[in-house]
Amino acid sequence: MKRIFSGVKPTGHLTLGNYLGAVRRWVEEDQHRSDALFSVVDLHALTVQHDPARVRRLSRQAATLLLAAGLDPRLCTVFVQSHVDEHARLSYLLECTATDGELRRMIQYREKGARARAAGESVRLSLLTYPVLMAADILAYGTEEVPVGDDQTQHVELTRDLAVRFNQRYGHVFTVPKATHPAVAARVMDLQDPRSKMGKSHENGAGIVYLLDDAETVRRKIMRAVTDSGRDVAYDREASPGVANLLDLLAAATGGNPEALAGAYESYGSLKKDTADAVVELLRPVRERHAELAADPGHVDQVLRDGAERARGMARPLVDRAYRAIGL
Ligand code: ADP
Repeated sequence: MKRIFSGVKPTGHLTLGNYLGAVRRWVEEDQHRSDALFSVVDLHALTVQHDPARVRRLSRQAATLLLAAGLDPRLCTVFVQSHVDEHARLSYLLECTATDGELRRMIQYREKGARARAAGESVRLSLLTYPVLMAADILAYGTEEVPVGDDQTQHVELTRDLAVRFNQRYGHVFTVPKATHPAVAARVMDLQDPRSKMGKSHENGAGIVYLLDDAETVRRKIMRAVTDSGRDVAYDREASPGVANLLDLLAAATGGNPEALAGAYESYGSLKKDTADAVVELLRPVRERHAELAADPGHVDQVLRDGAERARGMARPLVDRAYRAIGL
């Protein structure tokens, strides 16, 4: 069976972007057709200033939400990254494989680093090396496919380069993985700033739909989404990104095609209303199941313990092989 790995960072509450870009496909497709691992990648939450108690709380909430969205621990492995030492162990070997030049070129580092500097904060070294840890997350499991939103393309490319370079230098150890993206809504945009992606750690909550927002809040955020001053509903991501984003959301939530849907609307108001209704219905079961699971923390703990043990069992032999190959 094909090996799949993917993850979410507990740097904030999970968003509709995380769901449509990644989690929904893990649930509906990947866990059924492969030997898949899904991780709450908590080490990645330490690359910026953070509150330790909050990271712990958000990790548990993210794991609970993954189960609420429909990941089934009988079909796949769900675990927290820091519970499996192999990620950090392998990351160091990959730091000895990557160059500082290729890491400094990463778009997310350049953007987040610039934001931190502008805010007068120092930039943690881990913000630079984070894609190497991500490469370790993926390579430690012999992963073939990485289902992600399209903001992660560059990081998966780096992972491929590091796998190939390591194999060339030290002999074949790593499978070279490839990224896969959903057909629609691979990049959900912020509702208030439709030229930036909807990201859980952005400041402006009004443009972000969180999976745990109640129906009223989801409706309000979508009804207030920024569109543009035109009137025609057309699917044009460049000229009219806010409208295109709504069409993507509606298409992703109803199984339609965004370009075909554009023809069915004469006003932004009715498009927003239908999009809001569709997103509310899409998220309703996730929110309900989350409430049930949150009431039984012992169950989530058990799933995560079992998941970590399974993940460790898969990663350890491969990481040991990498240590031997590099001469240790
Ligand atoms: P975030 O940017 O919200 O912190 P993560 O880094 O935790 O997201 O990413 C988790 C998954 O969600 C990744 O596969 C990522 O590509 C996907 N993802 C994140 N934001 C979006 C978005 N706005 N649209 C589509 N996919 C997204």
